[in-house]
Amino acid sequence: MLLENNLTQAINGTQIDALGYSVGHKNDTFKPFRFKRHAMGEYDILLEILYAGICHSDIHAARSEWREGIYPMVPGHEIAGKVVAIGNKVSKFKVGDYAGVGCMVNSCGECESCKASQEQFCENGKVVFTYDCLDCFHDNVPTYGGYANNIVLSEKFAIKVPPNAPLEKVAPLLCAGITTYSPLQFSKVKKGDKVAVAGFGGLGMMAVKYALALGAEVYVFARNQNKAQDALNMGAKALFSQTKGIKERFDFIISTIPTAYDVKAYLKLLKSGGEMAIVGLPPIEAKTHIDVSSLVFNANKKVYGSLIGGIKETQEMLDFSLKHNIYPEVEIINITQINEAYEKLTSGKARFRYVIDMSSLKA
Ligand code: NDP
Ligand code: ZN
Repeated sequence: MLLENNLTQAINGTQIDALGYSVGHKNDTFKPFRFKRHAMGEYDILLEILYAGICHSDIHAARSEWREGIYPMVPGHEIAGKVVAIGNKVSKFKVGDYAGVGCMVNSCGECESCKASQEQFCENGKVVFTYDCLDCFHDNVPTYGGYANNIVLSEKFAIKVPPNAPLEKVAPLLCAGITTYSPLQFSKVKKGDKVAVAGFGGLGMMAVKYALALGAEVYVFARNQNKAQDALNMGAKALFSQTKGIKERFDFIISTIPTAYDVKAYLKLLKSGGEMAIVGLPPIEAKTHIDVSSLVFNANKKVYGSLIGGIKETQEMLDFSLKHNIYPEVEIINITQINEAYEKLTSGKARFRYVIDMSSLKA
């Protein structure tokens, strides 16, 4: 839902009015919030946001679980929408195209990592995250995310979405999709590999789907036994509710767990030479760690962290997902239901990825 003056502001090069939902502090609930986006630059696009997924990272950030957040905060980094205006040097998009936005909206573009399209590792520290970040390219103003009607960003950081794609299912691919696709590629998971997915929420379900598409035999570790049928329906071999006594040994494990857990217990389940990718980011206070002796006594196994994925790989992931018909399971909600969705996501009551239908946002 564009605001009345948005297109005029885009043409005139003035700041763009935006309407979203924000929290004012870490214990706050979401309320409507009016704010400004930076003016359109020559390489920027103005996107009307149609759908925004709710990632567990949004909850960690809104509640300052990793570090003190920047408030007021409008989270949201799983964005799908329509291009409604373009700067005069934009070449990747035209008005009317569809686009997605994930966790980043800019970076230096000059360092080795940026040149290799690993912008999330920008060596000049200039990666601008979609929200809860100070934008070094725009006077260090705070960035605001996708629980809103629009967003302005550099075309380089927008992902092309074909016109026939189901946008409500495309939105979560921009974070849950790339964050699980990337380590599966990095570890070269292949046909016949035994893969375990720990944590079976928004990210975990995508990991299961990609691993199956790569031909792996997939097992799920989850807290919630009620999700067993969903796992089997997706094609997993089994859902385990604990690591104890499990006989299977895996070539690859991906942990998407967002709470404190015993990392070593998963390490023990790797085959010799196996790899474990950690993407779940429990709160700092949870002090989830792995000690060096666990690594030494579980020798010849590799453990690494993985952070989203670069822009080039995000486009590749999106193209791969659409080609193979791989989409998240979603539950569409109104924007007024964000508080309820957060509660369900933290109390084990959520089943699928919540996606906000932005047509429910009223001026
Ligand atoms: P969800 O809340 O959608 O899913 C998390 C799942 O983990 C839930 O199903 C939950 O089960 C399950 N779970 C919680 N604790 C345990 C446990 N101890 N053992 C097994 N399962 C458990 O979260 P997301 O998938 O959106 O995000 C997952 C994590 O990944 C978050 O920490 C997020 O911040 C992080 N993340 C990291 C990124 C990166 O680049 N590295 C990018 C995006 C997200 P239940 O249903 O019982 O609650
Ligand atoms: Zn996310």
